[in-house]
Amino acid sequence: MKNLFEIPMPSVAIKGLEERYPVHRIYCVGRNYAAHAREMGGSPERESPFFFSKPANAIVANNATLPFPLRTQDLHHEVELVVALAGDALASKGENLTVTEAQEAVFAYAVGIDFTRRDLQTESKAKGRPWDTAKGFDHSAPISNLTPVTSAGDISNARISLSVNGQLRQEGSIAELIWSVPELIAELSSYYCLRPGDLIFTGTPAGVSAVVSGDELEASIGSLETLRVKLVARD
Ligand code: MN
Repeated sequence: MKNLFEIPMPSVAIKGLEERYPVHRIYCVGRNYAAHAREMGGSPERESPFFFSKPANAIVANNATLPFPLRTQDLHHEVELVVALAGDALASKGENLTVTEAQEAVFAYAVGIDFTRRDLQTESKAKGRPWDTAKGFDHSAPISNLTPVTSAGDISNARISLSVNGQLRQEGSIAELIWSVPELIAELSSYYCLRPGDLIFTGTPAGVSAVVSGDELEASIGSLETLRVKLVARD
């Protein structure tokens, strides 16, 4: 008999390993680069970054062709460093991590795009409503294959960039993160018990802008695998 509840577990390939990384949860950081906080009308001097989330099945593998999302006329790209958590550090403790413990919980890095239905987000902000429809939609979280930290080298000063149809739209440095990777993991662990399989989108540099059907996006961070995505019109 067919199993009515056979739902594929979202997962991501890992460079150099046979095993795939099972995606448990996706957390995201808002306004973690000063120039982007300002372009969104915020004040990085007065407001701290903050968290929101996407469903695990928003993950899309590299080189995907994506149907243009429903209910938006203003789809924005946000290129982000993605951090994958795992390891012994989380086996015994996932809450209230110190910055040192948080650093040890970083298993791998990837390049991601936090696709955003900006028109829905603007409406949600104006009405004081949740961001879920603006952020947590189908195919909203494409990421490259994971590169384990053991082979990624030091990425703390890596260039982060995104181009659309070959034209540069976003550019920055991982050094510009307001909350560094271990700092934001430690902060997140004061709200949630973090587990292996948790991905964190760490925020986007300035230059977010709209994309349309037919656009080809290319996103890079240092020597991590380049992420490529194409948007296509729905039938
Ligand atoms: Mn973002």
